[in-house]
Amino acid sequence: MVERKERFKGFNGSPVQILAKCPKCDAGLPVDGAETAATIRCGRCGHETPLTITDQVRGDLAVDRCPVCQGADFYTRKDFDPTIGLTVVIAGAATSAAFYWFGLDLVAYAILASAALIDLLVYSRLKDVTVCYRCHSEFRGRYRRGAAAFDLHAADVLEQEYERKIGRR
Ligand SMILES: [Zn+2]
Ligand SMILES: [Zn+2]
Repeated sequence: MVERKERFKGFNGSPVQILAKCPKCDAGLPVDGAETAATIRCGRCGHETPLTITDQVRGDLAVDRCPVCQGADFYTRKDFDPTIGLTVVIAGAATSAAFYWFGLDLVAYAILASAALIDLLVYSRLKDVTVCYRCHSEFRGRYRRGAAAFDLHAADVLEQEYERKIGRR
């Protein structure tokens, strides 16, 4: 639940969508970047997390500091929803199986191929999502991307630092 206060005025376009990760149970809590909420309450475990949303984040300009853990290290990845791609493949496979049954092999293969092609199109059109190395909160918006791709070593170091800080280790 988000405590609603006065909405931030002056941002251009749609606000940043933040998926804040509960430090206690890792549940994803959607937060509207334009909200000036001070705390979010986890719907799963009830843990209250203070949020500090910087003006850069709130204005959809850049993700400079994580509202949840105050970390400043992020990576960028494709905002891939595996369920979309899977649905296309299953639908394609089911249709092509029907054609195969009636001896129309070529049609069956064509459908399978186009299903794969649609997958590819879906993937290439996906937007980038910025992810916090420490607490895994996600950011979606039109801000300029400054974060590099995922780095395993950075993730190892920063996750451990964060988990020690919140007392998970
Ligand atoms: Zn929680
Ligand atoms: Zn974070």
